[in-house]
Amino acid sequence: MLADITFMASDKLEGRTFGSKGESKAADYISGRFKKLGLKPMGEKGTWFQSLTVKTPNPHNVEFAKEGEEDSKTDKNVIGLLDHGAPYTVVIGAHYDHLGYGEFGSLYSGPPAIHNGADDNASGVAMMMELAQRLSNEKEFNYLFIAFTGEENGLWGSNYFCKNPTYDMSKVTAMINFDMVGRLHENKLAINGVGTSPAWPELIERSNVFDFTITSSESGIGPSDHTSFYLIDLPAIHFFTGAHEDYHKPSDDVHLINAEGMGMITDMVSKLIKMMDEHKKLEFTKTKDPDPSSTPTMEVTLGVLPDYLYDGVGMRIDGVREGKPAALAGMQKGDVIIKLAGKDIKDIYVYMEALGTLHKGDKSTVVVLREGKEMELQVQF
Ligand SMILES: [Zn+2]
Repeated sequence: MLADITFMASDKLEGRTFGSKGESKAADYISGRFKKLGLKPMGEKGTWFQSLTVKTPNPHNVEFAKEGEEDSKTDKNVIGLLDHGAPYTVVIGAHYDHLGYGEFGSLYSGPPAIHNGADDNASGVAMMMELAQRLSNEKEFNYLFIAFTGEENGLWGSNYFCKNPTYDMSKVTAMINFDMVGRLHENKLAINGVGTSPAWPELIERSNVFDFTITSSESGIGPSDHTSFYLIDLPAIHFFTGAHEDYHKPSDDVHLINAEGMGMITDMVSKLIKMMDEHKKLEFTKTKDPDPSSTPTMEVTLGVLPDYLYDGVGMRIDGVREGKPAALAGMQKGDVIIKLAGKDIKDIYVYMEALGTLHKGDKSTVVVLREGKEMELQVQF
């Protein structure tokens, strides 16, 4: 896995942003690995690739277009199948794009610099390929491996695949997504989307052989590609080792990867898959979501990095982006937001809901806990 991450997160690939040469190099590398692993190409027309073209790239309202259209950009998903002639198929996915030189989405404020994205998300792609190897003798299921493009822009690759699948989706029993799995720390693991099937909690508990402290969230709607699969009514979960100082910065490099931790998570996932019933499709359930339509169309931002692994009351801030409303109001890393826009903030989902009610130009009082003390701060959006 480290060898794969080392290649994908090297400067040669220039941060793998959607439509770039670097991302194309990464796609060639992944398809080469898929071929060596004995997978079957499952993209368009017998190739490894599924191209998608996006018109006037806009993260909030993606409009797919024809290749070559004016103001459009094209890139591709990489898709391979491990076919065991089994009745059902597990989709295993990870996005391989990242932020390039930090033109958008970066939390770094210096001059343009390559964002290598070792954890985000070379780690997930490497884990996906490791599983392709380990599952070659696990004949209970077929396995469809997808490296998604355009995740950082707004889940473009997975959104496009789910609307235009190159595989018979009626055979798919579940989707497992890896996004940022390279920084296991203090044995803490987050698993999102556990409400998408009644089977997940027990499968997760039984496969947790390393006694990870697991923070799970129910919602099928989250900040990564499993969301696209949930939205077509498939059970979908997301493995995540948490945000960190180097998140969306040029310093997200390979030497900070916890390879041993990745091995442990891979073991857990292999066990979990083995425990899934090969004769029955996993039951799907809709989850209670913060209004999904408000999530991707947020009009304002605080400019903070949420701590997804925080399980106390409130929304803990893991980082503050310079020059943005939170920073200007004096918020700091470690603050826990407990009140925003007149709402008690119980968790990150209520936080997102509250944020969704605000508009550009609004002022709001935010209450944070700092070292156990409540503080009121005035935020201008
Ligand atoms: Zn990511």
